Amino acid sequence: MTQVSSSGSDTFVLDQQISALRPGKIVCVGRNYAAHAAELNNPVPEEPILFIKPASSLVMPDAEGLTSCPLHDAGSQHDESLHYETEIALLIGEQIGPDVAGDHRRLVDSVAGIGVALDLTKRELQSVLKKQGHPWELSKAFDGSCPVGSFVSPGRFIDKSQLEPNALWTALGFDMRFNGELRQQGRASQMLTGCIELLSHISRHFTLNPGDLVLTGTPAGVGALMPGAVLEVSLGLAAEGVDDAAAPLASVQQHTFRFAEA
Ligand code: ZN
Repeated sequence: MTQVSSSGSDTFVLDQQISALRPGKIVCVGRNYAAHAAELNNPVPEEPILFIKPASSLVMPDAEGLTSCPLHDAGSQHDESLHYETEIALLIGEQIGPDVAGDHRRLVDSVAGIGVALDLTKRELQSVLKKQGHPWELSKAFDGSCPVGSFVSPGRFIDKSQLEPNALWTALGFDMRFNGELRQQGRASQMLTGCIELLSHISRHFTLNPGDLVLTGTPAGVGALMPGAVLEVSLGLAAEGVDDAAAPLASVQQHTFRFAEA
């Protein structure tokens, strides 16, 4: 059984097996859904806003696919609230850099797994940093700030559906229940920059190596965590051509993030 760790030396759970991929960096995008930008009173960006979490931010799932998240010292100086942001995560299996940023096939083939991750954010500290024009890392890149679920290969998503392989990237979606209540619905069709376009943009700036993750941004419905919170995420596919923010999903994978009691 794999043990939960944020050491950065663990491997990923992929299709119930331990992949040989080692986590490196996590490249994240801010404001990739218009409705989430609006809920935080942020303008919609002209191009993706990127930031990076280090491997030390990861919290890995156990062999049963449960991710047990520590309760973070939520920054006592700032009377802090720790927010969840649920995001579709792409696990990179092949190196992609500036030389292949325009090669759609290579970008698609570089994705070894699709899963979900939490981009944990010290929201008040982030607001202070933003106002000061400082980088966001203290509020987003701290130890344990990136709990991840297990990953499923793109081929398995396609096998479980009637989709054309290229339609996968707009059909992906998730529903997140917070302590049983539906709080976030992410649909790739609602992303301002889609999954593969995002890989193209990122790889122009940062070479992505096997084991790196890309977090694709959070939809509306972010909120504060509390001790004992349980986030259940169903990752699945919307019917082809349906690009509604609440389109029903055919579930492919369920994942649970459980936060420590106080
Ligand atoms: Zn985020």
